[in-house]
Amino acid sequence: MHFSKEITGWYHQNKRDLPWRNTVNPYKIWLSEVILQQTRVVQGLSYYLKFIEHFPSVQDLANAKEEQVLKLWQGLGYYSRARNLHFAAKQVLETFNGVFPTSYSDLITLKGVGDYSASAISSFCADEKQAVVDGNVYRVLSRFFGIEDAIDSTSGKKAFKKLAEEVLDNRQPGLHNQAIMEFGALQCVPKNPTCEKCPLQNSCFAFANSKIDSLPRKDKKTKQRNRYFNYLVIHHKNSTYIEQRIGKGIWENLYQFPLIESVKKTVIDNLIQTKEWETIFKNSSYNIETVHVDVKHVLSHQIIYATFIEVEVLGNFDTSYKKINYHELEQFPVPVIISNFIERSPSIIP
Ligand code: SF4
Repeated sequence: MHFSKEITGWYHQNKRDLPWRNTVNPYKIWLSEVILQQTRVVQGLSYYLKFIEHFPSVQDLANAKEEQVLKLWQGLGYYSRARNLHFAAKQVLETFNGVFPTSYSDLITLKGVGDYSASAISSFCADEKQAVVDGNVYRVLSRFFGIEDAIDSTSGKKAFKKLAEEVLDNRQPGLHNQAIMEFGALQCVPKNPTCEKCPLQNSCFAFANSKIDSLPRKDKKTKQRNRYFNYLVIHHKNSTYIEQRIGKGIWENLYQFPLIESVKKTVIDNLIQTKEWETIFKNSSYNIETVHVDVKHVLSHQIIYATFIEVEVLGNFDTSYKKINYHELEQFPVPVIISNFIERSPSIIP
């Protein structure tokens, strides 16, 4: 059977009508690809539309403040992607005179653009013969051709890239790439694909050998470390306080309530004995109003256990935290763990 012909035939019948499919504008396609690396199409669509609305052109994005970009990105996680997006937009202005590149060799010079995005954009926009390999493509190729190399090993990545290049339809690489990605997203899905309806079934290795659940193969298990965050929601004369996360690590440059991180779960009676607590509240008098129920937030390499503690400060409060009115809270980009807390707990706003 002709793999590409079957896949593109299936694509014509089944593809979703998505805004970035009706354009060859590389800026829009790049935006959609960066967003879709973070989330599924259903959620990604609203982010894409928001970005296009706020930044209709790469110039608009380049000229935006980083905080505005982070705010629009809020909830998608991996904020370094949003920072790279912003940085790359500036690169397009400075290096390419504001004309978004469409060749693989130019695209790959942009910050945050790797082999996957450069292949996708150059093939979709300029029909360059570049094969895309993303999670969906790994799955389709490994199952259909019976490739057992681990997708998270260097040799496995090379083998899959080579195979993707071999099966690429050189006459219509953009269409082929879109088709295989969509096929992986809708038909050859990770769990319980409907193989009985699949046009590739007759030649599919995984189907014939009952290996659907074991392909694609991965070598390493991601290790996650536990972290314990104690957020202080400080009430002081109709104001509260926030700080910006600095340095590398999760949520760089986002804002948060003052944080005390502890090495293990710490009950409030022990937390108030810590040096960090003493430093924050020094000689202030305060009431601990509410200790909210713990929240668990799972990231790829970390599990965060967060406790939100409402503290009312009486009298003077001498601090370097940023003082804001409650209604200003929503203007700052914050990690989703905090925006969810604010949404869940309207009573924190007096
Ligand atoms: S037959 Fe099943 S496993 Fe094979 S390509 Fe189709 S959906 Fe994927």
